Amino acid sequence: MKISRRRFLSMSGAIGSGVALSSLGLDLTALKAHAAELNKTDQVRMARQSTTICCYCSVGCSLICSTDKMTGKIFNIEGDPDHPINEGSLCAKGAGLFGMTEVNQHRLRKVLYRAPKSNKWEEKDWDWSLKRIARLVKDTRDKDFITHNEKGELVNRVESIAHYGTSNINNEECWTLSVACRAMGLINIDHQARV
Ligand code: SF4
Repeated sequence: MKISRRRFLSMSGAIGSGVALSSLGLDLTALKAHAAELNKTDQVRMARQSTTICCYCSVGCSLICSTDKMTGKIFNIEGDPDHPINEGSLCAKGAGLFGMTEVNQHRLRKVLYRAPKSNKWEEKDWDWSLKRIARLVKDTRDKDFITHNEKGELVNRVESIAHYGTSNINNEECWTLSVACRAMGLINIDHQARV
């Protein structure tokens, strides 16, 4: 018989009550370990659960986000075992999604720049960063643009700049970026969903 995740959690609660009643006079080591697992399960069961889809690729794996009803904060994200596409499994990117939430104190929040040969990171604003990126792209393209290959064929390309796309933007934004890259002659264009 196939048991849904929600059914499994409610059954776990019933087992927990049985553990408390039957533990008198018995070696509790195994039962305590089991109870610790049930505490975690209880936390998930008491949470507000909502489903969403992983943003990282077109496989579209489903996730269950557990939110603490008191604080309104997400405390767990896991694969949805009831979903027909991923049946609870996630690849490393999806499994790391919880690290993208505010729980992760090391999450990058500002632009950090390290000058060539420096060992220090400096905080920069986006205006400065975008101008810097544009300057480097322009200078590199001007320097390395190849009009003809070794056979004399017209190619109009630049091989020394690569563009790596993200799934955190939508289809239309991806299309616009890839067109902009090709217009500049880039041929090294890839997307993180392919990795
Ligand atoms: S990135 Fe991984 S977890 Fe996310 S949808 Fe694709 S395969 Fe699923």
